[in-house]
Amino acid sequence: MASIKDNLEKVTAQLPGGVRLVAVSKFHPVEELAEAYEAGQRLFGENRAQELVAKAPELPKDIRWHFIGHLQKNKVRAIMPHVTVIESVDSVELLRLIEKEAARIDRTVDVLLQLHVAQEETKSGFSVEEVLEAGEAGELTEGLPHVHVCGVMAMASLTDDMDQVAREFDLVRRTYITLKDGAFDESEYFNELSMGMSDDWQVAVKYGATLVRIGTAIFGPRKY
Ligand SMILES: *Cc1c(COP(=O)(O)O)cnc(C)c1O
Repeated sequence: MASIKDNLEKVTAQLPGGVRLVAVSKFHPVEELAEAYEAGQRLFGENRAQELVAKAPELPKDIRWHFIGHLQKNKVRAIMPHVTVIESVDSVELLRLIEKEAARIDRTVDVLLQLHVAQEETKSGFSVEEVLEAGEAGELTEGLPHVHVCGVMAMASLTDDMDQVAREFDLVRRTYITLKDGAFDESEYFNELSMGMSDDWQVAVKYGATLVRIGTAIFGPRKY
């Protein structure tokens, strides 16, 4: 069986320059994260607040944690001291709360706006219409001194139909550009397009991903 180090090397060797890897370590024990760290990995993604809060103190301080799961409002305070990027902001209300909690501990936090483009209803995120409307209304840019909105994040449908996946990533990319040229035209931070997982990251990269979030292809299958 290939080691975590081998898997990391294989993936990073295929990533074009400028595309960064978030190693999605959810459900994997800290020993396995430490193995990835030893191999040079510094960006890790977790999707549950409790798990992030438990793991972060066990591992080196120069790890940059990306929160990638649905974030409940009552968990924002707990993750705030640990997280570098909250990739999964799915409402204006959550964005406001993140601002408040960041201000409370006197820090600035990077976030991405999660878009819902997949067929599954269970996935969260702004619809394309919602995010564009919020952008035009100034709700994503005004009154957020402790938040840098750095771009968008999305998941494609869980399907073998790579044409469908490509259409969804293309929609994400076009929405990102509309926001970048519109609501965020004066932002120096709005530069990130986070899309692509173990089974579809090659497609995501073709559509301009700057961050790919890969779990299974690095750590193996998760034991839930
Ligand atoms: C779990 C997860 C991933 C990684 O999925 P793999 O298929 O294991 O690569 C990426 N993004 C999000 C939001 C996830 O929850």
